[in-house]
Amino acid sequence: MHILSKSTYIKGLQCEKALYMQKKHPYLRDKLSIEQRAKFQRGTDVGVLAHAYFPGGVDMSPNSPSQFPKKVQETMTNLANPAVNVMYEAVFQHNDTLIMLDILVRDGEKWMAVEVKSSLRLSDTYYNDAALQYYVLHGCGVPLSDFKLMYLNADYVKNGAIDVKQLFKLESVMEYVVEREDFVAKNVERLKAVVALPHAPVVEIGERCNDPYPCDFYGHCWKHVREPNFYTIDYKTLYSLAPQPKPRSVGYLNLLLHRPAVPEIDGTKPYEEMILAFALQGEHETNDCFVWDCFDDHSRWREAIPVLIEKLSHYELIVCFTPQNLTTTLLRHEIIQNKEVGHKIFNLFDVLQEAHFYHPAIKRGMTLQRLAEALFPDSKLFEHSRIILEATAHDLIGYQQAKEDLIAENEIVAKTYQHFFK
Ligand code: SF4
Repeated sequence: MHILSKSTYIKGLQCEKALYMQKKHPYLRDKLSIEQRAKFQRGTDVGVLAHAYFPGGVDMSPNSPSQFPKKVQETMTNLANPAVNVMYEAVFQHNDTLIMLDILVRDGEKWMAVEVKSSLRLSDTYYNDAALQYYVLHGCGVPLSDFKLMYLNADYVKNGAIDVKQLFKLESVMEYVVEREDFVAKNVERLKAVVALPHAPVVEIGERCNDPYPCDFYGHCWKHVREPNFYTIDYKTLYSLAPQPKPRSVGYLNLLLHRPAVPEIDGTKPYEEMILAFALQGEHETNDCFVWDCFDDHSRWREAIPVLIEKLSHYELIVCFTPQNLTTTLLRHEIIQNKEVGHKIFNLFDVLQEAHFYHPAIKRGMTLQRLAEALFPDSKLFEHSRIILEATAHDLIGYQQAKEDLIAENEIVAKTYQHFFK
């Protein structure tokens, strides 16, 4: 069996302890968030779509880890079979390190390796990842003509069926991966030695815990960190940020934005933002919260814009809670015409951050779900990402649940505003 894989190697580059824990104590990992799971799924979906760029390949994906040795053998057999010109998820092992290569394409006497990324640009981690794959392929004696990273083309505009040749871009990293081979070889030996240690290495917590990825063992390593176990806030700053003069009318806004990696609607690009729904509740309105959505037909998403323009005009102050810059979002969609209107938007997320709001429930960063847990323990919110899953589930029960969750979130926004500013 192998000791390292692509993911454990990358984890080891980030932190030796994270690698050790992953191999020896995986049960201590933090629970995956809905957002993280959606990210993995997105990577898988884009990877499968990329196969169409090099059609007619043999899929080597194992059904379970126990099949790895068999798949390694089959991959080597296919390399020697002139009838096989493309392989997906070919499995290779060298020096106790196992990789699954997204796409391998016959190129004359040699092969071209392709690794797919569901991103709009390439990062250092992707280069490190490619370098490890090259190290293993070279170690297995696979003659390579090129090694390419394949990623999403930010300029692609969907028009009818997805054109994979236009959707993806290819960039050769051959020179880089050849140059990095010694670096990878040294790190593979170092990380194998880490896995063989009798105890977890001692590593100080710090910036590494979030760079380049939030570590899976954050909860485990940070649990002993002494932090206030009570809620704190700088009221002086908070009140200095209060809307002045007191607004005559307040509307609470909750936007549901969707950024599909692969464009769903004609005229949109990869990761282009769409408004799938919004909930808007007036402070003194006793009737139901107004909800607009296009869950059943995302191509209608632009219809949200005139409705929002009209609805928002009724309020002097718009209160929201979002880690994003709502003013920028509204400007982008021409819902507001200039930045000056931004002063009408009161983002509780920014305000509470600026007033150094702290509560043990928000130890790992502030989300509306954690804020609700901190201020109103009886209210039960889920992760905001869950609403996207419900709204894109293509079933009526999911749509209904998404609307209810959107309203429940907006109620927390309203309660929070009233808690601090009334
Ligand atoms: S939380 Fe930090 S110190 Fe702990 S394993 Fe992860 S990266 Fe290493």
